[in-house]
Amino acid sequence: MQRLSLFNFPLDPLDLDGVVEKLEGWMGSFDPHTVITLNPEIVIQAEEEDAELAQVIRGADLVSADGVGIVWAVKKMLDIDLPGRASGIDIITQLMERQGSNLRVFFLGGKPGIAEQAARNCAEKYGIQVAGFEHGYFKDDGNEDLKLVEKIRAGYPHLLITSLGAGRQEKFNHRHRNRLKVPIMIGAGGTLDVFSG
Ligand code: UDP
Repeated sequence: MQRLSLFNFPLDPLDLDGVVEKLEGWMGSFDPHTVITLNPEIVIQAEEEDAELAQVIRGADLVSADGVGIVWAVKKMLDIDLPGRASGIDIITQLMERQGSNLRVFFLGGKPGIAEQAARNCAEKYGIQVAGFEHGYFKDDGNEDLKLVEKIRAGYPHLLITSLGAGRQEKFNHRHRNRLKVPIMIGAGGTLDVFSG
């Protein structure tokens, strides 16, 4: 099925398996790709108050339906049944389960200690390689964020999990995509808090 347009934002009509297969195809790539999981909150934020975020969503390589709110809106407004939904945590979990030690992951975000614990737990549970980790309380000031970009690059991750809160995480991935050159970058809200628990 072709890419859809919902409230002028792109949406890829893929279920969880479809999303993960697409991401697996990018793993060996040297090109950066951004993934956004669309939910009603981020649509409202982008539409009402954050023009940069709207551009970021329009520039994403893959946009999935995060939850039932978007599935419902697509049915109501476009009269299309989506094949399913794919939330950030489900996408990341399935990718780690399927790829295990083939996958190198950088964990970015959460309060100090959270990303490190999440990395440890995921390495133990799924056998993934840890490319690095860093907490999410840095400044987007062209100094701290650029140092962080260097640190992420140095770990050569296939996957960057960015958990900085809705909006900021998507903008971080998009702004730095050409510096980062990470094949899969995904904004993933409270995912690291869950993985760390
Ligand atoms: N977070 C962060 N840096 C920030 C703000 C938030 O790392 O400047 C982390 C926060 O610790 C949590 C995640 O981002 O792990 C999601 O935060 P929150 O639930 O506040 O954001 P939402 O996704 O609800 O917008």
